[in-house]
Amino acid sequence: MNNRNKIFNYLPFLIVLSSLMALFLLNPNGTSKVLNYNELRSLLKTVEVEEVTVTVGSNVIDVKGSYKDNNRNVYFKSTIPNTEGQSDALISMLEKSKVSIVDAQARNIWMEMIGNIVPFIIFGAFAVFILTRLNSGGQNKAFEFSKSRARLESDIKIRFNDVAGCEEEKEEMAEIIEYLRSPRKFAKMGARIPKGILLVGPPGTGKTLLAKAVAGEANAPFYSISGSDFVEMFVGVGASRVRDMFKRAKQTMPCIIFIDEIDAVGRQRGAGMGGGHDEREQTLNQILVEMDGINDNSGVVIIACTNRPDVLDPALLRPGRFDRQITVSLPDRKGREAILKVHARNKKLADEIDLGALAKRTPGFSGADLENVLNEAAILAVREHSEVIKMPHLDEAIDRTMMGPAKKSRTHDEASKKMVAYHEAGHAIIGLFLDNAIMVQKVTIIPRGSAGGYNLMTPKEEKFMRTRKDLMASITSYMGGRVAEEIYFDDITTGAYGDIESATKIARDMVTIYGMSDLGPIQYDQANHSVFLGRDYNSPSNVSGNVAYEIDKEVRKIIDECYNKAKELILSHSKEIELIANALIENETITSEQIENLLAGKTVDGDVIDVEVKEKDETLG
Ligand code: ADP
Ligand code: ZN
Repeated sequence: MNNRNKIFNYLPFLIVLSSLMALFLLNPNGTSKVLNYNELRSLLKTVEVEEVTVTVGSNVIDVKGSYKDNNRNVYFKSTIPNTEGQSDALISMLEKSKVSIVDAQARNIWMEMIGNIVPFIIFGAFAVFILTRLNSGGQNKAFEFSKSRARLESDIKIRFNDVAGCEEEKEEMAEIIEYLRSPRKFAKMGARIPKGILLVGPPGTGKTLLAKAVAGEANAPFYSISGSDFVEMFVGVGASRVRDMFKRAKQTMPCIIFIDEIDAVGRQRGAGMGGGHDEREQTLNQILVEMDGINDNSGVVIIACTNRPDVLDPALLRPGRFDRQITVSLPDRKGREAILKVHARNKKLADEIDLGALAKRTPGFSGADLENVLNEAAILAVREHSEVIKMPHLDEAIDRTMMGPAKKSRTHDEASKKMVAYHEAGHAIIGLFLDNAIMVQKVTIIPRGSAGGYNLMTPKEEKFMRTRKDLMASITSYMGGRVAEEIYFDDITTGAYGDIESATKIARDMVTIYGMSDLGPIQYDQANHSVFLGRDYNSPSNVSGNVAYEIDKEVRKIIDECYNKAKELILSHSKEIELIANALIENETITSEQIENLLAGKTVDGDVIDVEVKEKDETLG
């Protein structure tokens, strides 16, 4: 809010305050003494009154005057009843002083009128002011419920080369641009360009960006609205908003209508739980009606976005509606490098930084995550008064993006520090010595987010699919932490709960979804099942009690197998685990190169170990 607006906010109070002050200031009698008749008489006897004004009315006589007391003017006033001869008596009493007599009728009629009217004017202005503010204020569009909330951006600067990676997706979109530039060309050829395009993909993969880039390239107006904007408390509002939006859009053809999170309105009808179906269904119906109402090749393209295509109403996906689906997936290594390059354009990176290596270390990161990493790194660099962004800044930024900021102040006490170190070393050992396991990039025992310490691991190469062996290896490395605790301490910690949770989930999915157990390739569970996302509340479970028991048994079998494998590996690499754990206790964080140094019999920094250090290591272990 700028200063002007602040003043406007306080204006009503200023008006009231200043008018009150004015009333007091304009009224000099406000500060004078009020005397009754007897007091007035005794006053007139004792002091020399300087000036007196006597106003004789029909019933009362007003007396106002002043006298000098120690060179200070003292004002007084008095009102006395106008009985027979009273005024003459009074005037004779005042003989010594200078008296002016004012006729009651001649009292300043104007002053009196203004005095009566001014408060009304002030309050009237005040009321008008409040009312106009209420109406024009951004949030309080009480009378504009049915107006669409779509925001119109007409001069979009985003171009295709701002969207990195996504080459196939861009190719698909290229013809939309062509079409928006000259819809006629397609009509002549008898081609029907899809009216609706559904971009499907996890959050942050650049769906919005892609849609905007299309608008930017085609120089077309871009109406954007989020699915949740249609949903209001009142039934029918969503539908009329849809109507209004399409009406507005048709006036500026060719254009793009962008509906973010379409799953908020486009869920399967007649399913799910909780109230508000009717509203959602009406809105969805209206969208369908409006889409059908757009003539082919008229120049309106609707791009919608969702990360849950499975919950969408089939009617939305029919030909003539959102009949083109483009999947925007998480970027691969090359894509990540390209995205990093796009966002590094306006950042000062140190020369030694290799964006390719950074891309390699960030599997599973979305475009938004990568942008966030570079931004966090830039902030950290500023915080440390560094001229350029250096590698440690990027390291920390990656960790932050994955796990939240480091909790440097929440340090472990010595005993639990040792336990966390062995726990993490246990994970690392599995990563180092089990085939198929993912590579250890970095191990730390600095608490971060809700974790007491963690291992940064990346797959040796990125794969589209994972094999049973890969999954087993993942579970085994989750088990590594707990196993190490058991072997090296005769106690276990709560710190392993996250590991156990993840391991159990993988094992259960292996049995119920991927068909990777002795129960055979049968799906026992839906991949997605959330009643709040448009699934039926009491969708029948398709397993009998007996099979549920079998599933549990299979899950246990998988976990047991992995657990034993982890135990075997850790017992047979006790020397390495101690090396890593001790290095962790000393350094808190070690990288993959440092681990390599350790395993090659050197210090973490790659120096050849002399005898003293070795002894120290042994006593610590
Ligand atoms: P979505 O709509 O898929 O949730 P957005 O399009 O809003 O994601 O992306 C969020 C941000 O992430 C973008 O503003 C952009 O800075 C960054 N981003 C995502 N994907 C890419 C990409 N392929 N190239 C460049 N930046 C990207
Ligand atoms: Zn763990």
